[in-house]
Amino acid sequence: MKQNKLKKIAIIGSGVYGSYIARRLTDQSDLSLTIFEIGNKKISTDTNLNIPSKIINEEYSGTSKGRFFGLGGTSSKWGGKILFFDKNSFNSAGTFLSQLVDLNVKYSKLVKSIIKIKSKQNNSIKLNNSSYRLEYGDWLFPFRKNFFKIFGINNLKNINLLENSKVIKLVNKDSGANVIYQQDGKLKNNDFDFIFLCSGAFECARILVQSKLENPKLNFSDHVGIQFGKSKGPMYFFGHDFSYKFSKFSLRTSRLSSEFKRRSFYIHPIIDMNRGFLMILKKILKEDFKISDILSFFKFIFIDIYWLFKCFIYRKLLPRNNTWRLNMTIENNDSRNFVNFKKSKDDSLIMEIDYQVGDNLKKDINEIINNLKLDLNDCNINFFNTSKFSNYEDVYHPFGLFEFDNLRHFKNKYGKIICFSTAILPRSGSINPTGAILPVIEYILNEKPWND
Ligand SMILES: Cc1cc2nc3c(=O)[nH]c(=O)nc-3n(C[C@H](O)[C@H](O)[C@H](O)COP(=O)(O)OP(=O)(O)OC[C@H]3O[C@@H](n4cnc5c(N)ncnc54)[C@H](O)[C@@H]3O)c2cc1C
Repeated sequence: MKQNKLKKIAIIGSGVYGSYIARRLTDQSDLSLTIFEIGNKKISTDTNLNIPSKIINEEYSGTSKGRFFGLGGTSSKWGGKILFFDKNSFNSAGTFLSQLVDLNVKYSKLVKSIIKIKSKQNNSIKLNNSSYRLEYGDWLFPFRKNFFKIFGINNLKNINLLENSKVIKLVNKDSGANVIYQQDGKLKNNDFDFIFLCSGAFECARILVQSKLENPKLNFSDHVGIQFGKSKGPMYFFGHDFSYKFSKFSLRTSRLSSEFKRRSFYIHPIIDMNRGFLMILKKILKEDFKISDILSFFKFIFIDIYWLFKCFIYRKLLPRNNTWRLNMTIENNDSRNFVNFKKSKDDSLIMEIDYQVGDNLKKDINEIINNLKLDLNDCNINFFNTSKFSNYEDVYHPFGLFEFDNLRHFKNKYGKIICFSTAILPRSGSINPTGAILPVIEYILNEKPWND
């Protein structure tokens, strides 16, 4: 019997998107899949792997604290909070962003079923008589967050996993594309029919620049966070309870979202995760737990038992000290923020990040907080002044690095290569946007671009 030739697909990176694609393609018997992964089962940082980056201007720790390398990539350490865009997400959106929103609306249910999120509720609701929306996020089960592990990628027989293989460059050919990579200090290459580039925002950029498919100097944006208030007791405002609710064995949280001068922002209560049982849990989930940490657990054991009992009774994750802090996370889409790749002596690319939180953004944040003070006047919130910007729990998602006119342009811009990363998003809106790319993957895989 005549057998059709298998289509060879390369997936660069085994993080959130690489593992998701591998999982979705593994059942297609006409495909042969190869995953290139720079790391291995030990999760590493950029310095461990000697991936050079340099910060000029203000501090931006997204490159050092916001990404992890190895099997599962950053999903080995992330929060696993999944949100999607919906029709309420942007006051106005260009063609490509509108198409991404449509894909989120179409495929988010399917994505939820694949990553085993049970909730069927809407993603967001407009609040009456206000410019705010209530936005919901579902968290993955705490011990099922590493996509490489939960999809069992290691055990899928039809996947060729190349660990310790750093992809340097991609070259489009007449039919298909070539992957040039470094393994055991040697430069190697391999031909494929199609390539999915999923090496994280900055490493996708590095590879595309090295491949001369993108400019060496790219704009980029990210969210930036600021804590501006605290409150004791229940977290009610706008008639809604914003505390973290248990949903099965995980959490469903809500936030107040809106847009101010084309910047999306969201406000949510946060709790101190750096003491007692919560700290231990956080360390276990991030695979950072050390035996010495157990001491801290015993130090606070009586407070913790009382607090756990309260959480169980109320079916909510409450703060241990009964104090919530209010955090605003806002898009810092400043046209002066750049990532610039410069050639080093050995021909590799050094990444320079030029980042700032400009005066306009600071002014906008003050205006938003002043409006909130009026809106939340009777909510027992103690507002405080601060100029300290940070990303709560190191949540970084760089966006706006690559530009696309529309979906067709997105599919064709890099030839036989498609890039999946938050870097493709023109805006990340008021959500942690990792989940919002998964519907785009569903759409592309449905189209089977390797057959074109
Ligand atoms: C602490 C923390 C919490 C977060 N929480 C959330 C959250 O709750 N919700 C949310 O939406 N987002 C969250 N994020 C952001 C989220 O983790 C990222 O958006 C997401 O991991 C991006 O997926 P990715 O596949 O693009 O990159 P990654 O998951 O980082 O995967 C990239 C993979 O590519 C590999 N790689 C890199 N370079 C190469 C190369 N040259 N050759 C071969 N392989 C390579 C890496 O080793 C890695 O395995 C969080 C981030 C952090 C740091």
